[in-house]
Amino acid sequence: MDQKTVPRHVLIFPLPFQGPVNSMFKLAELLCLSGLHVTFLVTHHIHTLLLKYSNIQSRFDAYPRFRLQTISDGLPDDHPRSGDQRMEMFDSLKINTKILFKELLTSGRLNSDSRRPVTCIIADGIMGYTCDVANDVGLPIIYVRTISAACLWVFFCLPKLIESGELPFAVDDDLDTPIMSIPGVEGFFRRRDLPMFCRSGNLADPNLNLYLPEVKENPRAHGLILNTFDDLEGPMLDQIRAFCPNLYTIGPLHSHLKYKLAGQSLSPLPSTNSLWKEDMSCITWLDSQPPNSVLYVSFGSLAVMTMEQYMEFWYGLVNSGSRFLWVIRPDSLTSDPTEIPLELSKSTEERGYIVRWAPQEEVLAHGAVGGFLTHSGWNSTLESVIEGVPMICWPYFLDQQVNSRFVGEVWKLGLDMKDTCDRVIVEKTVRELMEDRKDEFRKSADEMAKFAKQCLMEGGSSYGNLERLVKDIKAM
Ligand code: UDP
Repeated sequence: MDQKTVPRHVLIFPLPFQGPVNSMFKLAELLCLSGLHVTFLVTHHIHTLLLKYSNIQSRFDAYPRFRLQTISDGLPDDHPRSGDQRMEMFDSLKINTKILFKELLTSGRLNSDSRRPVTCIIADGIMGYTCDVANDVGLPIIYVRTISAACLWVFFCLPKLIESGELPFAVDDDLDTPIMSIPGVEGFFRRRDLPMFCRSGNLADPNLNLYLPEVKENPRAHGLILNTFDDLEGPMLDQIRAFCPNLYTIGPLHSHLKYKLAGQSLSPLPSTNSLWKEDMSCITWLDSQPPNSVLYVSFGSLAVMTMEQYMEFWYGLVNSGSRFLWVIRPDSLTSDPTEIPLELSKSTEERGYIVRWAPQEEVLAHGAVGGFLTHSGWNSTLESVIEGVPMICWPYFLDQQVNSRFVGEVWKLGLDMKDTCDRVIVEKTVRELMEDRKDEFRKSADEMAKFAKQCLMEGGSSYGNLERLVKDIKAM
Protein backbone atom coordinates (compact mmCIF):
# COMPACT_ATOMS: atom_id res chain seq x y z
CA MET A 1 0.00 0.00 0.00
CA ASP A 2 1.25 3.50 -0.83
CA GLN A 3 2.26 4.88 2.57
CA LYS A 4 1.32 8.42 1.44
CA THR A 5 -2.37 7.49 1.41
CA VAL A 6 -2.25 5.76 4.81
CA PRO A 7 -3.59 7.99 7.63
CA ARG A 8 -1.25 9.44 10.25
CA HIS A 9 -0.85 7.19 13.31
CA VAL A 10 -1.16 8.51 16.87
CA LEU A 11 -0.14 6.59 19.96
CA ILE A 12 -2.17 7.63 23.01
CA PHE A 13 -0.81 6.76 26.44
CA PRO A 14 -3.06 7.68 29.41
CA LEU A 15 -2.09 7.68 33.07
CA PRO A 16 -3.38 4.33 34.37
CA PHE A 17 -6.28 5.61 36.51
CA GLN A 18 -10.00 5.55 35.74
CA GLY A 19 -10.42 9.32 35.20
CA PRO A 20 -7.53 9.84 32.75
CA VAL A 21 -8.27 6.55 30.91
CA ASN A 22 -11.92 7.62 30.41
CA SER A 23 -11.05 11.06 29.07
CA MET A 24 -8.26 9.87 26.82
CA PHE A 25 -10.39 7.08 25.45
CA LYS A 26 -12.81 9.76 24.30
CA LEU A 27 -9.95 11.68 22.74
CA ALA A 28 -8.92 8.48 20.93
CA GLU A 29 -12.43 8.08 19.54
CA LEU A 30 -12.52 11.72 18.41
CA LEU A 31 -9.22 11.26 16.56
CA CYS A 32 -10.44 8.03 14.90
CA LEU A 33 -13.58 9.87 13.77
CA SER A 34 -11.28 12.56 12.33
CA GLY A 35 -9.57 10.00 10.10
CA LEU A 36 -6.45 9.14 12.11
CA HIS A 37 -5.13 5.72 13.10
CA VAL A 38 -4.92 5.40 16.86
CA THR A 39 -3.06 2.98 19.10
CA PHE A 40 -4.32 3.22 22.68
CA LEU A 41 -1.71 2.04 25.14
CA VAL A 42 -2.88 0.84 28.56
CA THR A 43 -1.22 -1.06 31.35
CA HIS A 44 -2.09 -4.76 31.74
CA HIS A 45 -3.90 -3.86 34.96
CA ILE A 46 -6.20 -1.31 33.28
CA HIS A 47 -6.73 -3.67 30.35
CA THR A 48 -8.02 -6.40 32.66
CA LEU A 49 -10.46 -3.98 34.29
CA LEU A 50 -11.64 -2.62 30.96
CA LEU A 51 -12.37 -6.09 29.63
CA LYS A 52 -14.11 -7.11 32.80
CA TYR A 53 -16.56 -4.26 33.20
CA SER A 54 -16.88 -1.94 30.21
CA ASN A 55 -18.48 -2.55 26.90
CA ILE A 56 -15.08 -1.91 25.46
CA GLN A 57 -15.21 -4.61 22.79
CA SER A 58 -18.21 -3.03 21.08
CA ARG A 59 -16.35 0.25 20.94
CA PHE A 60 -13.28 -1.38 19.35
CA ASP A 61 -15.52 -2.93 16.73
CA ALA A 62 -16.97 0.49 15.90
CA TYR A 63 -13.56 1.92 15.04
CA PRO A 64 -11.54 -0.01 12.47
CA ARG A 65 -8.76 2.60 12.86
CA PHE A 66 -8.45 1.86 16.59
CA ARG A 67 -5.99 -0.61 18.14
CA LEU A 68 -5.46 -1.45 21.78
CA GLN A 69 -1.96 -2.23 22.97
CA THR A 70 -0.88 -3.19 26.46
CA ILE A 71 2.28 -2.58 28.44
CA SER A 72 3.42 -3.59 31.92
CA ASP A 73 3.47 -1.06 34.77
CA GLY A 74 6.15 -3.21 36.34
CA LEU A 75 4.11 -4.09 39.45
CA PRO A 76 2.81 -7.49 40.57
CA ASP A 77 -0.84 -8.26 39.72
CA ASP A 78 -1.97 -8.05 43.34
CA HIS A 79 -0.48 -4.57 43.96
CA PRO A 80 -3.30 -2.18 45.00
CA ARG A 81 -2.07 0.75 42.83
CA SER A 82 -4.15 3.10 44.98
CA GLY A 83 -4.06 4.94 48.32
CA ASP A 84 -0.58 5.38 49.73
CA GLN A 85 0.77 2.84 47.25
CA ARG A 86 -0.12 5.03 44.25
CA MET A 87 3.36 6.51 44.36
CA GLU A 88 4.94 3.08 43.85
CA MET A 89 3.13 2.91 40.54
CA PHE A 90 4.45 6.31 39.45
CA ASP A 91 7.98 5.20 40.34
CA SER A 92 7.62 1.91 38.53
CA LEU A 93 6.21 3.59 35.39
CA LYS A 94 9.18 5.93 35.32
CA ILE A 95 11.72 3.15 35.65
CA ASN A 96 10.25 -0.05 34.17
CA THR A 97 7.62 1.15 31.73
CA LYS A 98 9.93 3.78 30.23
CA ILE A 99 12.23 1.04 28.92
CA LEU A 100 9.34 -1.03 27.55
CA PHE A 101 7.77 2.07 25.98
CA LYS A 102 10.91 2.86 24.01
CA GLU A 103 11.27 -0.76 22.99
CA LEU A 104 7.65 -0.82 21.77
CA LEU A 105 8.11 2.30 19.64
CA THR A 106 11.25 1.00 17.96
CA SER A 107 10.13 -2.63 17.60
CA GLY A 108 7.97 -2.21 14.51
CA ARG A 109 5.13 -4.03 16.32
CA LEU A 110 2.82 -1.03 16.04
CA ASN A 111 2.82 -0.82 12.24
CA SER A 112 1.80 -3.09 9.37
CA ASP A 113 1.20 -2.80 5.63
CA SER A 114 -1.96 -0.80 6.23
CA ARG A 115 -0.73 1.06 9.29
CA ARG A 116 2.24 3.41 9.27
CA PRO A 117 4.70 3.63 12.11
CA VAL A 118 3.58 6.01 14.86
CA THR A 119 3.80 9.65 13.69
CA CYS A 120 2.86 11.39 16.94
CA ILE A 121 2.62 10.52 20.64
CA ILE A 122 -0.08 11.91 22.91
CA ALA A 123 0.71 11.16 26.55
CA ASP A 124 -0.38 12.29 29.99
CA GLY A 125 1.83 15.25 30.90
CA ILE A 126 2.45 13.88 34.37
CA MET A 127 4.47 11.06 32.76
CA GLY A 128 7.44 13.25 31.81
CA TYR A 129 9.53 10.22 30.81
CA THR A 130 7.38 9.83 27.67
CA CYS A 131 8.86 13.10 26.38
CA ASP A 132 12.40 11.77 26.95
CA VAL A 133 11.50 8.65 24.95
CA ALA A 134 9.82 10.71 22.19
CA ASN A 135 12.97 12.82 21.87
CA ASP A 136 15.16 9.68 21.81
CA VAL A 137 13.16 8.08 19.00
CA GLY A 138 12.61 11.36 17.13
CA LEU A 139 8.82 11.60 17.43
CA PRO A 140 6.74 14.71 18.21
CA ILE A 141 4.82 14.52 21.48
CA ILE A 142 1.72 16.39 22.64
CA TYR A 143 0.84 16.28 26.32
CA VAL A 144 -2.63 15.93 27.79
CA ARG A 145 -3.63 16.98 31.30
CA THR A 146 -7.01 15.69 32.35
CA ILE A 147 -7.35 18.05 35.33
CA SER A 148 -8.88 21.55 35.29
CA ALA A 149 -6.84 24.46 33.93
CA ALA A 150 -7.27 26.06 37.36
CA CYS A 151 -5.58 23.15 39.09
CA LEU A 152 -2.86 22.89 36.46
CA TRP A 153 -2.17 26.59 37.03
CA VAL A 154 -1.88 25.96 40.78
CA PHE A 155 0.61 23.14 40.04
CA PHE A 156 2.57 25.53 37.82
CA CYS A 157 2.75 27.98 40.72
CA LEU A 158 3.98 25.48 43.34
CA PRO A 159 7.62 26.65 42.99
CA LYS A 160 6.43 30.25 43.53
CA LEU A 161 4.46 29.24 46.61
CA ILE A 162 7.59 27.69 48.09
CA GLU A 163 9.72 30.68 47.14
CA SER A 164 7.29 33.11 48.77
CA GLY A 165 7.11 30.98 51.94
CA GLU A 166 3.37 30.29 51.51
CA LEU A 167 4.28 26.60 51.36
CA PRO A 168 4.69 24.51 53.43
CA PHE A 169 1.96 24.83 56.04
CA ALA A 170 0.42 22.19 58.24
CA VAL A 171 -3.11 20.90 58.55
CA ASP A 172 -3.58 22.59 61.94
CA ASP A 173 -2.42 26.02 60.68
CA ASP A 174 -5.11 28.58 59.81
CA LEU A 175 -6.52 27.17 56.57
CA ASP A 176 -8.47 30.36 55.83
CA THR A 177 -5.27 32.35 55.26
CA PRO A 178 -5.45 33.87 51.76
CA ILE A 179 -2.98 32.74 49.11
CA MET A 180 -1.22 35.65 47.42
CA SER A 181 1.43 34.23 45.11
CA ILE A 182 -0.78 32.57 42.49
CA PRO A 183 -1.57 35.20 39.84
CA GLY A 184 -5.25 35.31 38.91
CA VAL A 185 -6.74 33.85 42.10
CA GLU A 186 -5.85 36.58 44.59
CA GLY A 187 -8.78 37.60 46.74
CA PHE A 188 -10.68 34.33 46.82
CA PHE A 189 -8.14 31.54 47.14
CA ARG A 190 -7.23 30.22 50.59
CA ARG A 191 -4.82 27.61 51.93
CA ARG A 192 -7.73 25.16 52.16
CA ASP A 193 -8.34 25.53 48.40
CA LEU A 194 -4.88 24.26 47.50
CA PRO A 195 -4.53 20.55 46.62
CA MET A 196 -4.75 18.41 49.77
CA PHE A 197 -1.08 17.41 49.72
CA CYS A 198 -0.13 21.07 50.34
CA ARG A 199 -1.33 20.63 53.93
CA SER A 200 1.29 18.06 54.82
CA GLY A 201 3.61 20.68 56.31
CA ASN A 202 6.44 18.99 54.51
CA LEU A 203 8.33 19.93 51.37
CA ALA A 204 9.43 16.31 50.98
CA ASP A 205 5.80 15.20 50.43
CA PRO A 206 5.88 12.73 47.49
CA ASN A 207 2.74 14.22 45.86
CA LEU A 208 4.16 17.71 46.04
CA ASN A 209 7.31 16.46 44.37
CA LEU A 210 5.32 14.68 41.69
CA TYR A 211 3.61 17.90 40.59
CA LEU A 212 6.45 20.35 41.25
CA PRO A 213 8.13 19.82 37.83
CA GLU A 214 4.91 20.62 35.84
CA VAL A 215 5.98 24.15 35.02
CA LYS A 216 9.23 22.88 33.50
CA GLU A 217 7.81 19.64 32.11
CA ASN A 218 4.69 20.67 30.19
CA PRO A 219 6.35 23.29 27.92
CA ARG A 220 8.71 20.59 26.57
CA ALA A 221 5.94 19.11 24.44
CA HIS A 222 4.77 20.39 21.05
CA GLY A 223 1.43 21.36 22.62
CA LEU A 224 -0.89 20.71 25.53
CA ILE A 225 -4.41 19.29 25.23
CA LEU A 226 -6.82 20.23 28.03
CA ASN A 227 -10.24 18.81 28.81
CA THR A 228 -11.90 22.16 29.45
CA PHE A 229 -13.48 25.01 27.48
CA ASP A 230 -12.59 28.65 27.05
CA ASP A 231 -15.79 30.17 28.48
CA LEU A 232 -15.32 28.23 31.71
CA GLU A 233 -11.62 28.73 32.36
CA GLY A 234 -10.50 31.64 30.12
CA PRO A 235 -8.52 33.57 32.77
CA MET A 236 -6.66 30.45 33.98
CA LEU A 237 -5.91 29.43 30.39
CA ASP A 238 -4.40 32.87 29.73
CA GLN A 239 -2.05 32.32 32.66
CA ILE A 240 -0.99 28.87 31.39
CA ARG A 241 -0.46 30.20 27.84
CA ALA A 242 2.42 32.31 29.11
CA PHE A 243 4.29 29.00 29.64
CA CYS A 244 2.63 26.72 27.06
CA PRO A 245 1.50 28.87 24.13
CA ASN A 246 0.12 25.98 22.10
CA LEU A 247 -3.02 24.95 24.03
CA TYR A 248 -5.75 22.78 22.58
CA THR A 249 -8.82 23.19 24.80
CA ILE A 250 -11.23 20.63 23.39
CA GLY A 251 -13.54 19.79 26.29
CA PRO A 252 -15.86 18.70 27.69
CA LEU A 253 -14.50 15.63 25.92
CA HIS A 254 -17.38 13.28 26.72
CA SER A 255 -19.91 15.63 25.12
CA HIS A 256 -17.58 16.57 22.31
CA LEU A 257 -17.59 12.91 21.32
CA LYS A 258 -21.38 12.69 21.50
CA TYR A 259 -21.69 15.74 19.22
CA LYS A 260 -19.19 14.32 16.72
CA LEU A 261 -20.96 10.96 16.63
CA ALA A 262 -24.30 12.70 16.07
CA GLY A 263 -22.70 14.88 13.35
CA GLN A 264 -21.66 11.72 11.49
CA SER A 265 -25.10 10.18 12.04
CA LEU A 266 -23.60 7.54 14.33
CA SER A 267 -25.62 6.51 17.36
CA PRO A 268 -24.02 6.91 20.78
CA LEU A 269 -21.94 3.90 21.77
CA PRO A 270 -22.08 2.28 25.21
CA SER A 271 -20.18 4.16 27.91
CA THR A 272 -16.57 3.27 28.72
CA ASN A 273 -16.67 5.09 32.03
CA SER A 274 -16.81 1.99 34.10
CA LEU A 275 -14.19 -0.01 35.80
CA TRP A 276 -17.17 -1.38 37.77
CA LYS A 277 -20.46 -2.76 36.52
CA GLU A 278 -23.13 -0.07 36.11
CA ASP A 279 -26.40 -0.66 37.94
CA MET A 280 -29.04 0.44 35.41
CA SER A 281 -31.92 -0.07 37.86
CA CYS A 282 -31.32 3.45 39.19
CA ILE A 283 -32.54 4.88 35.86
CA THR A 284 -35.86 3.06 36.32
CA TRP A 285 -36.02 4.48 39.84
CA LEU A 286 -35.28 8.00 38.53
CA ASP A 287 -38.04 7.59 35.93
CA SER A 288 -40.56 7.46 38.76
CA GLN A 289 -39.33 10.62 40.55
CA PRO A 290 -40.61 14.20 40.00
CA PRO A 291 -38.52 16.59 37.85
CA ASN A 292 -35.40 18.13 39.48
CA SER A 293 -36.24 16.49 42.82
CA VAL A 294 -33.33 14.07 43.26
CA LEU A 295 -29.90 14.82 44.66
CA TYR A 296 -27.37 12.52 42.99
CA VAL A 297 -24.56 11.61 45.43
CA SER A 298 -21.27 10.16 44.21
CA PHE A 299 -17.67 10.59 45.27
CA GLY A 300 -16.05 9.14 42.15
CA SER A 301 -13.84 6.13 41.71
CA LEU A 302 -11.09 6.73 44.29
CA ALA A 303 -12.39 8.64 47.33
CA VAL A 304 -12.75 6.65 50.53
CA MET A 305 -14.34 7.53 53.86
CA THR A 306 -14.92 6.16 57.32
CA MET A 307 -18.20 4.68 58.56
CA GLU A 308 -18.59 7.77 60.79
CA GLN A 309 -18.40 10.04 57.76
CA TYR A 310 -20.92 7.87 55.92
CA MET A 311 -23.31 8.11 58.84
CA GLU A 312 -23.01 11.93 58.94
CA PHE A 313 -23.81 12.11 55.22
CA TRP A 314 -26.61 9.60 55.59
CA TYR A 315 -28.32 11.45 58.46
CA GLY A 316 -27.78 14.78 56.71
CA LEU A 317 -29.36 13.49 53.51
CA VAL A 318 -32.32 11.88 55.24
CA ASN A 319 -32.92 14.89 57.54
CA SER A 320 -32.87 17.28 54.55
CA GLY A 321 -36.03 15.59 53.28
CA SER A 322 -34.60 15.49 49.74
CA ARG A 323 -34.84 12.46 47.49
CA PHE A 324 -31.42 11.02 46.76
CA LEU A 325 -29.61 8.52 44.57
CA TRP A 326 -26.35 7.51 46.24
CA VAL A 327 -23.40 5.61 44.76
CA ILE A 328 -21.61 3.64 47.47
CA ARG A 329 -18.66 1.77 45.96
CA PRO A 330 -17.86 -1.48 47.77
CA ASP A 331 -14.23 -0.38 48.22
CA SER A 332 -15.00 3.10 49.55
CA LEU A 333 -15.27 2.28 53.24
CA THR A 334 -12.08 2.48 55.33
CA SER A 335 -13.53 1.17 58.59
CA ASP A 336 -15.77 -1.74 59.54
CA PRO A 337 -19.45 -1.25 58.67
CA THR A 338 -21.74 -0.78 61.65
CA GLU A 339 -25.42 -1.59 61.87
CA ILE A 340 -27.66 0.93 60.08
CA PRO A 341 -30.32 2.41 62.43
CA LEU A 342 -33.87 1.45 61.44
CA GLU A 343 -35.02 5.06 60.94
CA LEU A 344 -32.29 5.55 58.31
CA SER A 345 -33.10 2.45 56.28
CA LYS A 346 -36.83 3.26 56.47
CA SER A 347 -36.39 6.83 55.17
CA THR A 348 -33.97 5.60 52.51
CA GLU A 349 -36.52 3.07 51.31
CA GLU A 350 -39.10 5.87 51.05
CA ARG A 351 -37.12 8.46 49.12
CA GLY A 352 -33.62 7.16 48.45
CA TYR A 353 -31.87 4.63 46.23
CA ILE A 354 -28.39 3.21 46.69
CA VAL A 355 -26.24 1.56 44.02
CA ARG A 356 -22.64 0.38 43.89
CA TRP A 357 -21.88 2.14 40.59
CA ALA A 358 -24.16 4.22 38.36
CA PRO A 359 -24.25 5.17 34.67
CA GLN A 360 -23.30 8.69 35.77
CA GLU A 361 -23.59 10.60 32.49
CA GLU A 362 -27.08 9.19 32.00
CA VAL A 363 -27.99 9.98 35.60
CA LEU A 364 -26.88 13.61 35.32
CA ALA A 365 -28.81 14.00 32.07
CA HIS A 366 -31.99 12.63 33.68
CA GLY A 367 -34.77 15.17 34.24
CA ALA A 368 -35.41 13.95 37.80
CA VAL A 369 -31.92 15.00 38.96
CA GLY A 370 -31.80 18.50 40.44
CA GLY A 371 -28.42 18.51 42.20
CA PHE A 372 -25.15 16.62 42.53
CA LEU A 373 -23.27 16.06 45.78
CA THR A 374 -19.84 15.38 44.34
CA HIS A 375 -16.18 14.99 45.30
CA SER A 376 -15.44 17.53 42.53
CA GLY A 377 -13.36 15.20 40.36
CA TRP A 378 -12.81 16.98 37.07
CA ASN A 379 -14.77 14.52 34.93
CA SER A 380 -17.73 14.62 37.31
CA THR A 381 -17.58 18.43 37.39
CA LEU A 382 -17.62 18.72 33.60
CA GLU A 383 -20.38 16.11 33.31
CA SER A 384 -22.46 18.17 35.74
CA VAL A 385 -21.64 21.49 34.05
CA ILE A 386 -22.80 20.41 30.61
CA GLU A 387 -26.06 19.00 31.99
CA GLY A 388 -26.71 22.21 33.96
CA VAL A 389 -26.84 20.38 37.31
CA PRO A 390 -25.87 22.55 40.35
CA MET A 391 -23.36 20.99 42.73
CA ILE A 392 -22.53 20.56 46.39
CA CYS A 393 -18.80 19.95 46.57
CA TRP A 394 -17.11 17.73 49.11
CA PRO A 395 -13.59 17.47 47.69
CA TYR A 396 -11.39 14.57 48.68
CA PHE A 397 -7.90 15.15 47.28
CA LEU A 398 -5.64 16.49 44.50
CA ASP A 399 -7.36 18.86 42.07
CA GLN A 400 -10.71 18.54 43.84
CA GLN A 401 -9.99 21.21 46.48
CA VAL A 402 -9.26 23.66 43.66
CA ASN A 403 -12.24 22.70 41.48
CA SER A 404 -14.70 23.03 44.34
CA ARG A 405 -13.55 26.59 45.10
CA PHE A 406 -14.10 27.56 41.47
CA VAL A 407 -17.56 25.90 41.46
CA GLY A 408 -18.66 27.84 44.54
CA GLU A 409 -16.85 31.15 44.29
CA VAL A 410 -16.08 31.81 40.62
CA TRP A 411 -18.66 29.99 38.50
CA LYS A 412 -21.43 30.19 41.13
CA LEU A 413 -22.62 26.73 40.18
CA GLY A 414 -23.17 25.48 43.70
CA LEU A 415 -21.85 25.28 47.24
CA ASP A 416 -18.42 24.26 48.49
CA MET A 417 -18.67 22.15 51.63
CA LYS A 418 -15.01 21.23 51.93
CA ASP A 419 -13.49 20.25 55.26
CA THR A 420 -16.83 19.70 56.97
CA CYS A 421 -18.65 16.44 57.41
CA ASP A 422 -21.36 17.03 59.94
CA ARG A 423 -24.98 15.92 59.57
CA VAL A 424 -26.35 19.37 60.45
CA ILE A 425 -24.21 21.07 57.79
CA VAL A 426 -25.01 18.38 55.21
CA GLU A 427 -28.75 18.85 55.88
CA LYS A 428 -28.50 22.67 55.68
CA THR A 429 -26.40 22.61 52.49
CA VAL A 430 -28.72 20.14 50.75
CA ARG A 431 -31.75 22.29 51.63
CA GLU A 432 -29.96 25.40 50.38
CA LEU A 433 -29.15 23.82 47.00
CA MET A 434 -32.36 21.86 46.45
CA GLU A 435 -34.87 24.32 47.94
CA ASP A 436 -33.90 27.78 49.27
CA ARG A 437 -31.55 28.88 46.46
CA LYS A 438 -32.47 26.38 43.77
CA ASP A 439 -33.62 28.99 41.22
CA GLU A 440 -30.45 31.02 41.54
CA PHE A 441 -28.18 27.99 41.08
CA ARG A 442 -30.28 26.52 38.32
CA LYS A 443 -30.08 29.81 36.40
CA SER A 444 -26.27 29.98 36.51
CA ALA A 445 -25.97 26.25 35.79
CA ASP A 446 -28.27 26.60 32.76
CA GLU A 447 -26.21 29.52 31.44
CA MET A 448 -22.92 27.68 31.79
CA ALA A 449 -24.42 24.57 30.17
CA LYS A 450 -25.41 26.74 27.22
CA PHE A 451 -21.82 28.01 26.86
CA ALA A 452 -20.50 24.46 27.14
CA LYS A 453 -22.77 23.28 24.34
CA GLN A 454 -21.97 26.26 22.12
CA CYS A 455 -18.24 25.62 22.31
CA LEU A 456 -18.79 22.16 20.81
CA MET A 457 -20.70 23.42 17.79
CA GLU A 458 -19.22 24.66 14.53
CA GLY A 459 -17.63 28.03 15.26
CA GLY A 460 -17.19 27.15 18.97
CA SER A 461 -13.77 27.15 20.67
CA SER A 462 -13.49 23.42 21.44
CA TYR A 463 -14.78 22.51 17.97
CA GLY A 464 -12.18 24.77 16.34
CA ASN A 465 -9.35 23.58 18.60
CA LEU A 466 -10.02 19.92 17.78
CA GLU A 467 -9.88 20.75 14.06
CA ARG A 468 -6.58 22.55 14.62
CA LEU A 469 -5.21 19.60 16.61
CA VAL A 470 -6.10 17.13 13.85
CA LYS A 471 -4.62 19.43 11.20
CA ASP A 472 -1.38 19.75 13.20
CA ILE A 473 -1.14 15.97 13.67
CA LYS A 474 -1.76 15.39 9.96
CA ALA A 475 1.07 17.81 9.17
CA MET A 476 3.53 15.92 11.40
N1 UDP B 1 -18.59 7.41 37.37
C1 UDP B 1 -19.53 6.54 36.90
N2 UDP B 1 -20.38 5.97 37.80
C2 UDP B 1 -20.35 6.23 39.13
C3 UDP B 1 -19.39 7.15 39.60
C4 UDP B 1 -18.53 7.73 38.70
O1 UDP B 1 -19.60 6.27 35.70
O2 UDP B 1 -21.14 5.66 39.87
C5 UDP B 1 -17.65 8.01 36.41
C6 UDP B 1 -17.96 9.47 36.19
O3 UDP B 1 -18.94 9.60 35.17
C7 UDP B 1 -16.61 10.05 35.83
C8 UDP B 1 -15.62 9.13 36.53
O4 UDP B 1 -16.33 7.98 36.93
O5 UDP B 1 -16.42 10.02 34.43
C9 UDP B 1 -15.01 9.74 37.77
O6 UDP B 1 -14.04 10.65 37.36
P1 UDP B 1 -13.71 11.94 38.20
O7 UDP B 1 -12.65 12.68 37.47
O8 UDP B 1 -14.92 12.72 38.50
O9 UDP B 1 -13.21 11.41 39.60
P2 UDP B 1 -12.15 10.27 40.05
O10 UDP B 1 -12.87 8.99 40.01
O11 UDP B 1 -10.99 10.34 39.09
O12 UDP B 1 -11.81 10.68 41.45
